[in-house]
Amino acid sequence: MLKNQINEIRDEALQAFKGAASTKELYDLKVKYLGRQGSLPAIMKKMKDVSPEERPLMGQAMNQAKDALETAYLKFEEELKRGELTKRLSEEKLDMTLPGPPSKLGAHHPIEMVFDEIIDIFSRIGYYVRSGPMIETDDHNFGALNIPPEHPARDMQDTFYIDEEHSLRPHTSPIQIRTLRSEKPPFYVLGPGGVFRCDSDVSHSPMFHQIEGLVVDKKVSMADLKGTLSYFASEFFGKSIKTRFRPSFFPFTEPSAEVDCSCPLCNGKGCRMCGHTGWVEIGGCGLVHPNVLSASDLDNSEWQGFAFGMGIERMAIIKYGISDIRLFYENDNRFLEQFRR
Ligand SMILES: [Zn+2]
Repeated sequence: MLKNQINEIRDEALQAFKGAASTKELYDLKVKYLGRQGSLPAIMKKMKDVSPEERPLMGQAMNQAKDALETAYLKFEEELKRGELTKRLSEEKLDMTLPGPPSKLGAHHPIEMVFDEIIDIFSRIGYYVRSGPMIETDDHNFGALNIPPEHPARDMQDTFYIDEEHSLRPHTSPIQIRTLRSEKPPFYVLGPGGVFRCDSDVSHSPMFHQIEGLVVDKKVSMADLKGTLSYFASEFFGKSIKTRFRPSFFPFTEPSAEVDCSCPLCNGKGCRMCGHTGWVEIGGCGLVHPNVLSASDLDNSEWQGFAFGMGIERMAIIKYGISDIRLFYENDNRFLEQFRR
């Protein structure tokens, strides 16, 4: 009887399902008995030999067998899954004492590092830091610095004007003016900060950084200025660095000079950084113009001063041999990580 065969296969399959050790094994058994090529569907092919009266009974038996196996399959599958999960959880025990994945440490930005180092070098000889706003009055930016409205020096700096009276500071010099007007001399002041000019290419950025130094005391000479900047250059670039001063012009200093130091990259032998001259310019300086002192109500027969300024990016470019100023602002970790200290 076909019906008996069906029931035999069903019982055999149920028995096999019960003994399955894994969901994989169980699934393979399901395919073996119920799949397209499985034992139960194979019986269906014999249906044609069954008498028409018996056929409905056979069909019924077949459906019952299939239902029973499907139900059993789901039940055993559920049990096996639960068992496998429990086993996996017990094997994959969490060790709470293990350290977590290492987190990436940030690095100081080269601009920040150069600021810190310059401030540190000057603070060792008695300088202190003052600051000022980035939007400044015309007087602080120009007038008090001996740069009157029609002075050509105003064209030297392509300034971002906010309105007639205010602009983004094109240099850190207004910090000097604020200090001169709000505190009492002697001064040994550093004014670090961001400055703004309409300029952008490989060596210029519309926003960059400067640091200025201002000394006002009773007896201040060009020799003091030279000594101070030579000390700075040898501390910043290395003991073997030489400095030289070239006459120059700035409205706010008289006399004025530009400061070069021997190229730290090639030790003065000549390289791309120094344009094969062996010297690199590091900033401008001079004795404070008497007009600047008197614009801030200081008696210029009693007080004298010197001032100097340099670009932070330029110092970083020279110190680290960087070719493109834009690298400082792109925040590419591959660049920044090289400055880890
Ligand atoms: Zn060089």
